[in-house]
Amino acid sequence: MDLHLTNDTPSGAETEAVDSILGAPASGWEGGERKAEREGRAAASGHAARANRHLLLPVLHAIQERIGWISPGALNYACQRLTIPPAEAYGVATFYALFSVHPRPPRVAHVCDDVACLANGADVLCADMARRFGAEGAPAEDGFAWHRSPCLGMCERAPAAMVTVAGAQPATIALAPTDAAAIEQTLFKSDYVKGNGAPSSLARSAPQAGSDELRLLRRVGRADPADLASYRSAGGYRALERALALGPAQVVREVSASRLLGRGGAAFPAGVKWQAVASAPAQPHYMVCNADESEPGTFKDRVLMEEDPFAVIEAMTIAGIATGCEQGYLYLRGEYPLALERLTSAIAQARTAGLLGAAILGGEHAFDIEIRRGAGAYICGEETALFNSIEGFRGEPRNKPPFPTEVGLFGKPTLVNNVETLLNVLDVVLEGGDAFAEVGSEQSTGTKLFCLSGHVARPGVYEVPFGTTLRALIEMAGGVAGSGYLQAVLLGGAAGTFLTPAELATPLTFEATRAIGATLGSGVVMLFDDTVDMQRVLLRIAAFFRDESCGQCVPCRVGTVRQEELLHRLVAEKPLGSVDSELHLLNEVGQAMRDASICGLGQTASSAIESAVARLGQFNGRRN
Ligand code: SF4
Repeated sequence: MDLHLTNDTPSGAETEAVDSILGAPASGWEGGERKAEREGRAAASGHAARANRHLLLPVLHAIQERIGWISPGALNYACQRLTIPPAEAYGVATFYALFSVHPRPPRVAHVCDDVACLANGADVLCADMARRFGAEGAPAEDGFAWHRSPCLGMCERAPAAMVTVAGAQPATIALAPTDAAAIEQTLFKSDYVKGNGAPSSLARSAPQAGSDELRLLRRVGRADPADLASYRSAGGYRALERALALGPAQVVREVSASRLLGRGGAAFPAGVKWQAVASAPAQPHYMVCNADESEPGTFKDRVLMEEDPFAVIEAMTIAGIATGCEQGYLYLRGEYPLALERLTSAIAQARTAGLLGAAILGGEHAFDIEIRRGAGAYICGEETALFNSIEGFRGEPRNKPPFPTEVGLFGKPTLVNNVETLLNVLDVVLEGGDAFAEVGSEQSTGTKLFCLSGHVARPGVYEVPFGTTLRALIEMAGGVAGSGYLQAVLLGGAAGTFLTPAELATPLTFEATRAIGATLGSGVVMLFDDTVDMQRVLLRIAAFFRDESCGQCVPCRVGTVRQEELLHRLVAEKPLGSVDSELHLLNEVGQAMRDASICGLGQTASSAIESAVARLGQFNGRRN
């Protein structure tokens, strides 16, 4: 069967882009010469081509980077090669914000206008961009365009932008802090280096880096992140050696004894997951590192991956071996070019040194890691959406149960942990689970990374023991910046909760924040001084959820739209009926999304907005 979207045939560049991932076609099933059936059906069957569907996302990345958009000719050819119905491939291509199915200039500036950048001049930057380059999205004649973008994960250096350059030498350049002049200079540069990105400024991104008292940021700044020997001389790979000496079952017991809770937002006990995957009868098992942190205001995993990439690889290896996995996937945010560069290099060096591959450190265990890049979809941070994304489908969450520990990636038992959770495992193995649990509180053991941004004097990633108060954390970061008068703190991200200055004594633990109806979420602590228009911030959060809803279930797809419409009416002071009836409706929409949405996105899409009404008195006449 011929599969094509239109009659467009691929150009040489489009063919090259697809073949750069898939290799040259070996049979008629893959768009090559039709002689497979005569010469060996088993070796070149449609089944073999269909088994490569998981390469669709890398293929789309290659097309976007080489051609500048997902052109019909390239998509037709990709569908032929992978034996994917064109409508399905089109559905996948249109799912991701970083892909365009319409002609797009090769040079594009993505300018963040999300909440942290809003507090640091994003509106001024966007107005400046419009003055220099014309309206947002309008393709300029000279081969470039600019767009507003959701959070780019560089909130500590806001305002931020990212420039993508398509062509034979594609590049992604992160810019932060930036302005329109710097973006213009980058757009018109001629000597792009593939995959380059703005290095973190350690002093700016992780002010405590390298301190002996820390667990997660201890190595940051001490070792060259591009050099395995440097990592090993700073103590790297001692945890893997100890894990191999302990054996998989004892490593799982130590993780259980540590009472380590997942740091991605759900706070699920890591030991329970590890035990479930290790004992799952179905084979093979897979290990997935969720490095898709896309929660607005979150950048801690980016800093860890850029500055301590070998630690991520070492921790994944320990997790894989302990739970019986031979293959790991690291699903990385598409907007993190420097992390991609450093992790790719770290994996290659680890393989060469026998720290990944068929016989880890010459022993009986095999484990390897493949990086998969996301392409601008917040929902792919949800674990089952992430599986679908890796498998080459739209990143839509699956119903649970069954849970990933039983039926996960490719339908097999899968361990999913995020970057911060995994890095804790290094100390769990080195210190022992019981010793690890001595830090923190009874129910929240260890230390936690927090991402401070907005109106704070020294933004960046901070590591503190669980139980530190919000006030102490803010003081550690130099206190309130801007006007110096705090209006509100967004705790946990766009899916989190606004807190008032009266709530700064709250201890930062899972249990204490739960007790006041808040959440630690992904560790966002975003400060807003009293000059910020909070209604503008709420509109941005509502627009974010409306845009990022995958649209699969009605409560979220419709609820996020209705929530945004309602906020616009309130901000414009044109309520349907009274303000009270609108606020009642806002709560009802939120309740419907919480009760009936398939996944956490819909269930938390109203949290921050409802908390701003309840705690900050937005729209009901009371202001703190
Ligand atoms: Fe998709 Fe929203 Fe439903 Fe989650 S809750 S599955 S994001 S529509």
